[in-house]
Amino acid sequence: MLNGYGSSIVRVNLTTGKINKELTPASLARDFVGGRGFGAYFLFKEVPRHADPLGAENKLIISSGPLSGLMIPGAGKCDWTTKSPLTGGYASASLGGLFTAELKYAGIDSLILEGISPKPVYLFIDDNKIELRDATAWWGKGTIELEEELKKKFGEEFQIAVIGPGGENGVSFASINHDFGRQAGRGGVGTVMGVKKVKAIVLHGTKSIPVADLEGYRKAGMALYKACKDAEGVKEWTTYGTTIVTSWCDEVGALPTRNFSAGSFEGGKTLYGPHMRKEIVITDKGCFGCPCPCGKYSSMKRYNSRVEGPEYETIGMMGSNLGLSDIQDVAEANRLCDDLGMDTISTGSVIGWAMECYEKGIFTKADTDGLDLKFGNVQAVFDLIGKIAQRQGLGALLAEGVKKASQKVGKGSEKFAIQVKGMEQSAYATHSATAMLLSYMTCDVGAHHNRSWAITYDLQVGREKVVPEKVARVIWLQNFRPMFDVLGSCRLQWVELSIDRNLYLPALDAITGLKRTWEDLELVGERIWNLTRMYWARENEGFGRSWDLPAPRFYEEPPKTGATAGQITKFEDVQKLLDIYYEQRGWNADGQPTTERLEKLGLAGLIS
Ligand code: SF4
Repeated sequence: MLNGYGSSIVRVNLTTGKINKELTPASLARDFVGGRGFGAYFLFKEVPRHADPLGAENKLIISSGPLSGLMIPGAGKCDWTTKSPLTGGYASASLGGLFTAELKYAGIDSLILEGISPKPVYLFIDDNKIELRDATAWWGKGTIELEEELKKKFGEEFQIAVIGPGGENGVSFASINHDFGRQAGRGGVGTVMGVKKVKAIVLHGTKSIPVADLEGYRKAGMALYKACKDAEGVKEWTTYGTTIVTSWCDEVGALPTRNFSAGSFEGGKTLYGPHMRKEIVITDKGCFGCPCPCGKYSSMKRYNSRVEGPEYETIGMMGSNLGLSDIQDVAEANRLCDDLGMDTISTGSVIGWAMECYEKGIFTKADTDGLDLKFGNVQAVFDLIGKIAQRQGLGALLAEGVKKASQKVGKGSEKFAIQVKGMEQSAYATHSATAMLLSYMTCDVGAHHNRSWAITYDLQVGREKVVPEKVARVIWLQNFRPMFDVLGSCRLQWVELSIDRNLYLPALDAITGLKRTWEDLELVGERIWNLTRMYWARENEGFGRSWDLPAPRFYEEPPKTGATAGQITKFEDVQKLLDIYYEQRGWNADGQPTTERLEKLGLAGLIS
C-alpha cells in the first residue's frame, strides 16, 4: 500500500454496470501526486480525442490527494475532472465539505465514472461494497431536499454528493452539491454527472490511511493547526469568510457591477461582510478538519429559507453584477441555484448578460418570456434562474453559457459576454488590473480566479503596468496554488492566514515517506499546467493565442463610474501580456508548449 493514499482506483462503467478496482500506481503518485494531477492524467490518457462531453466516452473523475482525510487543516478537498460541456476543454472543480475524507476512508484515490446509465441511478459505496442502485424516484428533486432525505435514509455517517434539475436537464454549468452548500461548481461537472444519469453518490468508509511516520505526522499536523490558531487574521477570517473582500473590491473597483460595466456599486455597502453577518448569518460552517471555518450559514426571514452562503463570488455575481443590493435577495438567489444545482458564478454572468441585452434593446419582452429584465429586478432574477434549470424559453438559450448564447444572438452582444474560452469570468472586474486579467486569460479551465489570484499584486505593483514581474507572479501562482488541489487540501489557510507553506512539507514527508520540496512540487504543478494546455489544443482545432483573449469590454469600454472610471487595458498591452507570458512559459508565439518544454517536464511520452 502507498503511504498517504487510499491505494485504489475504482472504475464504474454505467453502461454495463461493471465495477472494477485497480491499485494506484506508485509512478502516478510520484509524477502527478493526486487530486487534480490524477484527474488531468486520466482525462488526457483515457478520454478519446474529440469525445463528445455529453457522450458515453467522456468520464467524470473524482480524486483525493495524499493529505485528504488526515488531520491537516482543511485536508478535505477533492477534484472533479471531466471534458467540459461548457467549454469543450479541460474542466476541474474542487469540492470541500466532508465527502473527500469519506472517499479516502473507503480506500479510493480516484473514482472514475464511465459510460451512460440506461436509467437514473445512484452509486452506493460502503467500504468494499460498491453498487449501482435505482434512483428513478429521485429524478427531478432539488439537491437540498434530496440530501436531507438521504441523510435520514442512510444515516449521518454517510456523505452525499447530488445533482439537481440543472444537471438532469443539461444546463452547461450545472454543479454537484454536498453538505447542504458545498459545490463542485465550475465547468459543468454536474452536467456530465446528469448526462450519465447518476443522481447521487452515497459514500461511507472506515479504512485507515497508512502513514509512514506517525509521530512525525502528529507533530507536523499540530504545528500547522497551531499556526492557524495563532494567525493574526484568523478571527476576522472566521467571522466574515470570503465576504471579507467585498468592501475592498468595491473600493478598488474590482466588484463586478451590472455585467462588469463598472467595478464599484452604489448599493455595495449592504452587501459587505459586516452587514451580511449582522443581517442574515446564524452560524459558521467549515469543511473536514478545518480550524478556521469560512462557511457562513444564513437565514433569510423574508423568504423563510436558509442557505450556506453567500460567499464573495456569489455576492459579486448575483448581487452587484445584477444590480441587487439587498443581501437577503442575493442569499435567496444563492439558495435557488444550490437547490437546482447550478454554478452561481456562471448563472450570475448569463443573467447579467441577458439584462444588458434587454437594457440595450437587443432583447424585448418577446425574447424574455415577458420578464422585465432590468438590472435590479429581483423577481425577474428568481424567475430566470428557474427557467434556466428547466431550459424553458429564454432559459434554454442561457443554459448554453454566455459564449454560445451571445454567438447565437449576435448584434454586438459577444462584446459584453464576459468569458474566456467559454467559461464565465468570476467576480473580479479587470478593466485595469493586468495581472488578474492575465490570470483569467490564461487560466486552465477558462476565466476562473482560484488558480492565480493576483489582484492584490496588481495594486502593489501598479494596476495598469505590463511588466515581466507581474507575468512571472501569475505563472508562479498558477504552478503553485493548484498544488493544494493536487494534495487534497484547502489553499485558504495559506492565502488568508499567511501560513508558511514550508510547514506542509514535514507533514507530507511524514505521511508519504517521500522527501519533497516546493521546487519539486511546483514542477509537478507546471507539468499538470502544460498537460492541460495540450489537452485544450488536442480537443479544439485552431486552439492558440486567440483563445486567450479576454472579453472586449476590458480593452474597449472603460467604466464610467467608480474607482476605475476611465480605465482600461489597451489591446496592445493585452497582446504584450501574452507575448511575455508565452516566452516565460517556454511556449511558442501562438501559446503552444514547445517539444523541449514538454520533454523537460517528462510529458513527451504521454502526449505523443
Ligand atoms: Fe473549507 Fe473554508 Fe476551511 Fe477552506 S477555509 S477548509 S473552504 S471552511
